[in-house]
Amino acid sequence: MPDAPPPSPYRPDTPIAELAGWLGDPVEPADFPRTTLRFRNDRWATAVGVDDLSEGDWLKHFGRFDPLPDNLPKPLALRYHGHQFRVYNPEIGDGRGFLFAQLRDGGNRLLDLGTKGSGQTPWSRQGDGRLTLKGGVREILATEMLEALGVNTSKTFSIIETGEQLQRGDEPSPTRSAVMTRLSHGHIRIGSFQRLLALEEADHMRSLVDYCLAQFPGPPPPEDAPGRDEPAVRLLHLVVERLADLAASWMVAGFVHGVLNTDNMNITGESFDYGPWRFLPRWQPGFTAAYFDHSGLYAFGRQPEALHWNCGQLAVALRLIADAPPLIAALERFGPLYSAAIGRRWCWRVGIESLGPEKDAELVGQCEAYLAESDAPPDAFFHAHRGGRDLPDALRTLFEGRSALDSSHPYWDDAEPQTMLIEEVEAIWRSIDEADDWSPLHRKVAAIRRMGEAHGAAPEPAGHSASG
Ligand code: AMP
Ligand code: MG
Repeated sequence: MPDAPPPSPYRPDTPIAELAGWLGDPVEPADFPRTTLRFRNDRWATAVGVDDLSEGDWLKHFGRFDPLPDNLPKPLALRYHGHQFRVYNPEIGDGRGFLFAQLRDGGNRLLDLGTKGSGQTPWSRQGDGRLTLKGGVREILATEMLEALGVNTSKTFSIIETGEQLQRGDEPSPTRSAVMTRLSHGHIRIGSFQRLLALEEADHMRSLVDYCLAQFPGPPPPEDAPGRDEPAVRLLHLVVERLADLAASWMVAGFVHGVLNTDNMNITGESFDYGPWRFLPRWQPGFTAAYFDHSGLYAFGRQPEALHWNCGQLAVALRLIADAPPLIAALERFGPLYSAAIGRRWCWRVGIESLGPEKDAELVGQCEAYLAESDAPPDAFFHAHRGGRDLPDALRTLFEGRSALDSSHPYWDDAEPQTMLIEEVEAIWRSIDEADDWSPLHRKVAAIRRMGEAHGAAPEPAGHSASG
């Protein structure tokens, strides 16, 4: 973490309004019986200039969804399709969420405030449009931990308990309800493009590509990339770069997202929508997070392949407006980009200098083999060997000749690293559920943020600007 994000005044800007007529539907938020503030992310509220809202005003905007000044007059439920476990589903879309507001940060980058659990929409099918409080608490924990481990993730902005009793198949029911607001650079998904292909809306596809390039810019494709001036090709290069880096960042964090469907893939490469996620207790490539993932499709070690496959689906959609060869050339960059990214990020997490893709790949491979063989918990491994200290014999020569990154933060002297294993997540939830005791959650968030300060900001690929 990145130091605290720089403060900015509130700067509403709603470029999505241009696309709203075909990208979404105006909807009404649910009228909740109660709104009790449970979590407010002051770190990020400061970055978008809403940190000085009183608690009452916060509840009005993020519990009742009164529009923010000069912002979207009505929430917008976004339309999209998606491959769910590789099966195409045209019946999805924002069924329990909407885009609430758009604003700019101090670096002029566009941010969306989007919801989960804010009520039914035209895309709810049989669903109640609600979020469980436990789901909200789990999303706080996932996003805070990932942010501290250098993953480009959506931020959990607000959790408000809403006083309803929900029935769920995968939680003891009835269970408490909540509405969440998340902050993220846009909510345009690969599935948003897939829908435009399915409906053969080529003009809208061009407009959406232009929107993404204008609002979420990045470096141009490599000099030798065919078709590099084509907007669709430029966008695919950016998404391949971002998702290759995202896949690498999850692997280095020991994180299993669990549901890597194309409707959960943000074009900005931000990780989001945390359902059945887990952090690895041991280095097991076959570790699967979702109880309903019977084939292990989205197991820990298969995440890079899943994201590459999802990039392929974006390419298929973009064929509506571009030729295949330059799109294929962009997809082929995924493997080498992933490999470079995991090396760079692995070195960062263990606190040593990167020596470039080839040497880093060797180091990652040997460390992985050591982790698998020794059964060492991954978080403990990175902590114990910070800056190359106390290495086992098997790894010593590999680390030689690499200087240590700054390891002066007192966190590095803690006997135990911060972890986010399921037992602790459940214990934090139990305190809330049984005793309405929120202090373990708040203590955990503070401890994770302290770890994040010790890590500092993760390395960016060459040519990329800092991510928020
Ligand atoms: P998710 O698993 O949250 O990514 O959601 C997949 C699809 O199911 C999306 O279209 C969601 O909006 C929809 N969905 C999931 N849960 C609910 C719910 N409780 N009510 C309405 N729609 C839902
Ligand atoms: Mg989703």
